[in-house]
Amino acid sequence: MKAVTARMARSLLGAATAFFLLSAIFNAARADGEVNIYSARQEVLIRPLLDAFTKASGIKVNVVSGGEDALIERLKAEGANSPADVLLTVDAGRLVRAKDNGSLQPASSEALQALVPPAYRDPAGFWYGLSVRARPIMYAADRVKPAELSSYADLADRKWKGRICVRSSGHVYNQSMLAAMIAYDGVEKTEAWARGLVANLARRPQGGDRDQIKAVASGECDIAIANTYYLAGMIKSGTDDEKKMAAKVAVFWPDQAGRGVHVNISGAAVTASSKNRANAVGLIEFLAGAEAQRIYAEAVYEYPIRAAIPVHDPLAAWGEFKADPLRLSALAQFNADAVKIADRVGWR
Ligand code: FE
Repeated sequence: MKAVTARMARSLLGAATAFFLLSAIFNAARADGEVNIYSARQEVLIRPLLDAFTKASGIKVNVVSGGEDALIERLKAEGANSPADVLLTVDAGRLVRAKDNGSLQPASSEALQALVPPAYRDPAGFWYGLSVRARPIMYAADRVKPAELSSYADLADRKWKGRICVRSSGHVYNQSMLAAMIAYDGVEKTEAWARGLVANLARRPQGGDRDQIKAVASGECDIAIANTYYLAGMIKSGTDDEKKMAAKVAVFWPDQAGRGVHVNISGAAVTASSKNRANAVGLIEFLAGAEAQRIYAEAVYEYPIRAAIPVHDPLAAWGEFKADPLRLSALAQFNADAVKIADRVGWR
């Protein structure tokens, strides 16, 4: 009964957001003109979304693609002269960095406040999440039983000695995961955990998340910590080799009785230098809307920014999970501590 009521509430919310979305598009359409994006997301992935926006609004979208960190540096260097209106990137930590650099401006939009849950946006409206990325535990289906797994904390237990693979702590995904732990447990406890994790590694960290998943498939380790869209990409891969490897690896949602799975976002922000501000806000509203959110789940294999949007396989096959409700703006606050901990425990 409860579930049915929740579903009804969700569909009402869906109707309300659809209304917001339509009015946003028509308001933007009257503005005409263009909007310039600095995008750390591959253009091939976001092009269908941008074309749908242009079709609905008449606003032309120009894209400059670049690396996540390079684009943030470029915005900072260009300052008020930057042609960019919108920054599109991944990881809340990076969006906070751009905000702290003075490269963003707040967008106060009722539609965005309704579409994006508070945990996934800046409290002052400087950035908004557009998709959720989950970082659970992955395991070798033939060597590990899900009953042996429970929490991230458990990965520091000696029973996992020599069995875990994870990428370098130099990557923001792991820094953000540590930062979330610090937000709950403090520096000392998080450091003890990280020390235990490093003691259990099967090998010196190397490669990206996809390489950790492949190492589980090949038997080099039994457990990996990785973002789910990498596994989804392998399952949907054009090569039989990757498909076969992916079939050997399963997803475990840790901490379901506790604070939930560590998540992060991809997101967008209006730049401080924006000369097409209304169009920029209109575009971000469109990307947070129901139509665009379905495309995110289907094309990028990330989770929609709110629960009402359905997902398909392979995401649906992994089931629903409880996500850590931490406000992601906290990740940047503890990033420096996270980097220091990784250094002290020898997580390369
Ligand atoms: Fe990634």
